[in-house]
Amino acid sequence: MPRHDRDEVARRAGYATWQEAVGATAHLGQQEAGRALGVSHPTIRTWRAELGVGVAAARPSAQQRAAAFRADPGDQRHGSANGYRNLGCRCEACTRAWTDYQRSRRTGG
Ligand SMILES: [Zn+2]
Repeated sequence: MPRHDRDEVARRAGYATWQEAVGATAHLGQQEAGRALGVSHPTIRTWRAELGVGVAAARPSAQQRAAAFRADPGDQRHGSANGYRNLGCRCEACTRAWTDYQRSRRTGG
């Protein structure tokens, strides 16, 4: 897509330039950003790649997601064996769930 068309797309979505539009939607997923700007998500991916922005921020690593989970006591996944084993949480609820899970495996119940 030629640059002036990119800017046209960005202006229709309320931004001055396509670079500004990419920066302003960097926190969104590619699908969401595409909807917000009225373009397809591969287009968003291309634009982000060209600017080198939002790629890591838009898709946090498994490690970052696990850390966010552990930092949020309200997350529904606390109190699950998954929370303990896969997400590395050692809160009381997750530890208990993991202990129970191990026990039920041992006893076959
Ligand atoms: Zn937990």
